[in-house]
Amino acid sequence: MNDAMNSRFILHNALIVTMDKESRVFRNGGIVIDNDRIVAIGQSADIIRQYSSNSHEIIDLHGQFLLPGLINTHVHTSQQLARGIADDVDLLTWLHHRIWPYESNMTEEDSYISTLLCGIELIHSGVTCFAEAGGQHVSGMAKAVELLGLRACLTQSVMDSGDGLPSSWGIRTADECIQSQKELHKKHNNTADGRIRIWLGIRQIMNSTDQLLLQTRDTAKELQTGIHMHVAEIPFENDLVMQTREVDHGTVTYLEKVGFLSSNLLSAHTVWVNENEIGYLSNHEVKVSHCPAAAMRMLGFAPIKEMLDANVCVSLGTDGAPSNNRMSIVDEMYLASLINKGREVYTKGTTDPTALPAESVLKMATVNGAKAVLWENEIGSLEVGKKADMIVINPSSWSMVPIHDCISSLVYCLRTENIVSVMCNGRWIMKNQKIMNVDEAEIISMAKHAAAQLLSRAGIQIPNRMNLV
Ligand SMILES: [Zn+2]
Repeated sequence: MNDAMNSRFILHNALIVTMDKESRVFRNGGIVIDNDRIVAIGQSADIIRQYSSNSHEIIDLHGQFLLPGLINTHVHTSQQLARGIADDVDLLTWLHHRIWPYESNMTEEDSYISTLLCGIELIHSGVTCFAEAGGQHVSGMAKAVELLGLRACLTQSVMDSGDGLPSSWGIRTADECIQSQKELHKKHNNTADGRIRIWLGIRQIMNSTDQLLLQTRDTAKELQTGIHMHVAEIPFENDLVMQTREVDHGTVTYLEKVGFLSSNLLSAHTVWVNENEIGYLSNHEVKVSHCPAAAMRMLGFAPIKEMLDANVCVSLGTDGAPSNNRMSIVDEMYLASLINKGREVYTKGTTDPTALPAESVLKMATVNGAKAVLWENEIGSLEVGKKADMIVINPSSWSMVPIHDCISSLVYCLRTENIVSVMCNGRWIMKNQKIMNVDEAEIISMAKHAAAQLLSRAGIQIPNRMNLV
């Protein structure tokens, strides 16, 4: 589908939350888009006066809200078909008996279908760009991202050591891990009109030798790309690092010691860190992805307020479907604010309703997300010269009316269902809640079938609950 002829738009009569450096919000704003870029933004009347003369399609948003596309900085697109396979189980069962058998039995076609299904949910929740946390079949993911019209930093799941991994995986050497990622980079980086970038991955420190860590660091520099890694997820991880790697605290202390911390590191979760380690993250400008729902379920309370106070760039992620079930960054914005207000009870003896105010949470989901994926020069805010990645929100429904404070409404009232249209790279990828580039019903049907086949191949059985008759 080539809609290049129609990619000149004026959207006007909208409340525009730009997320620019001056935090400008236009009560009645307009924006002009030529192909994939924003060429003008301002008061609606001025925009119409200056630009409405010729070839732009003019769209009146009738007071709806316009925001930058939201950015999900930690999502396992390959795990979408595993939604519901590991609910209410302990961490070891989750990993050894559900997730590893699932992932190790996945084909590239499964990954493609899983990413399509996940992508549909991401688009419905207003996401235009995401960072893949690491899966087995990057080519399958890339095919789905290209088709959906999304923007993404894709990453392979990389491990070169560790106990308990499925035998079919076989442990690869550090050299093999690097080589395979270099090939993926060559094949897919900067493809799909520049919407796809390939990053390096480290699944987590317990599955990585020092050789892999250091080669990953150096290769990322050479390819000028980012590294996505799960960091300091559980106390056990820190304990193991202290025992085996001779440091007095956990993963972050060790990564600092070996010179791994850097501004191109996207550190997922990062829950179990002390004050010194927050200092290291800040000094090296490491980016943190906070996944509130997954943290509450599996990991613990991350010191997000302390990180933000120390100028660490914290963004938001959903994690994967078996850790969260809901791939909605809208839900994560709400949770991030509530959980971090509530967490203050541990330090202050009372919750703190002023912690993580709505504007900070919006920043996490937009500009901080853009910094986290190393793309802040082109996305994350609505500004002249940036890519046309944006979402239209209908605030006139039971979930948001009345609106006395438009900024707080976007965090505390907004539901996924309020997001009506999504544009990425100057193209509508959802319009009036219709996914544009794939048949949503067909993908749902394919996903049901692929998920059933995959679970049966992997020998995963979900015990019945209650009195299922
Ligand atoms: Zn993850």
